[in-house]
Amino acid sequence: MEYISLGKTNLIVSIIGFGCIPITRLTRHDAVDLLHYAFDKGITFYDTANGYFDSEEKLGKAFSKIRKKVIIATKSLKRDAKGITEHLDLSLKRLKTDYIDLYQLHQVSKEEDFKIIFSEQGALNALNKAKEAGKIRHIGVTSHNDKMAVKLIKTGVFETIQFPFNFIERQAENEVFIESEKNNLGIIVMKPFGGGALDNGKVALKFLKNFKYLVPIPGFEEKWQIDEAIDIYSKKEIQLDEMDLQVIEQYKNELGKLFCRRCEYCMPCPSGVIIPFAMQFKSVVKRMHKEKVLSFSKEIESVNNCTDCGICIKKCPYELPIPEVIKQNYKLYENLNQHN
Ligand code: SF4
Ligand code: SF4
Repeated sequence: MEYISLGKTNLIVSIIGFGCIPITRLTRHDAVDLLHYAFDKGITFYDTANGYFDSEEKLGKAFSKIRKKVIIATKSLKRDAKGITEHLDLSLKRLKTDYIDLYQLHQVSKEEDFKIIFSEQGALNALNKAKEAGKIRHIGVTSHNDKMAVKLIKTGVFETIQFPFNFIERQAENEVFIESEKNNLGIIVMKPFGGGALDNGKVALKFLKNFKYLVPIPGFEEKWQIDEAIDIYSKKEIQLDEMDLQVIEQYKNELGKLFCRRCEYCMPCPSGVIIPFAMQFKSVVKRMHKEKVLSFSKEIESVNNCTDCGICIKKCPYELPIPEVIKQNYKLYENLNQHN
């Protein structure tokens, strides 16, 4: 395993990390066993979130005794000082630690969020205080919206950026990665498997391995997936061959016109539909614990408000057939609810 410095944080992390959503689907025993397996194989970087069900607790159970040997990143959707302080304290408790290596503002995409975060009573002031108090070591941010990501990078206050990137979602190459490198931010790649849509993990990781400055955090649920990833990431050079390129082309053709990048350009919906969530609901079902999935009933049930006005389709840069997809996804929710 190779290790690199994560931008200006100077945190030394394995060149491939571990995204900790899928462990929410495992029992506590199996999750801890899987995390130990990954650590024994050389993975030292683990990314979780306040909102990932019991993920933080499982990480705490796995690593509290070897805390200094792992780099833990977590995040919160709160934008105000009070809310983020409560979340941070809860994360410290769940993770059984007295410091977090990298604390990220989670999924910042709206202007109004940006304004609150940077206000007097905003989350950033609270995080700076937490940093001074030694509760967190570094501050990062995550986003799905390229324009907002660039704006956040240019503020100069963040040390890392986390953004989706895979062979279908490549918009970050245009500006997000360029600005990040210019400002020496660590670049963490979320959704290397497209949130579960790219089920050929081998090709997805071979594609990413060629971007030397990126640290992907694939979600693992089984040991063979870790072995496969490490096999690819332990090779000095790895090129996509003809077969891989064909596989990529096939995915692009099949998914390209349906794949939601969660950029939120389609929002707001005049009827109150939470479009990005409804669009990615299939991937939520695939990756999350059923109890957590059903806790999003308010978000997915907003689909019932859709009037087929088509406004969102015009705003979506990828012209996705939004009303059609969200209604299909709603059927998944109904099925899940019926069998509960
Ligand atoms: S539906 Fe289109 S605009 Fe809306 S989040 Fe998805 S990709 Fe972005
Ligand atoms: S088509 Fe449906 S989801 Fe899209 S903007 Fe109109 S009401 Fe909202």
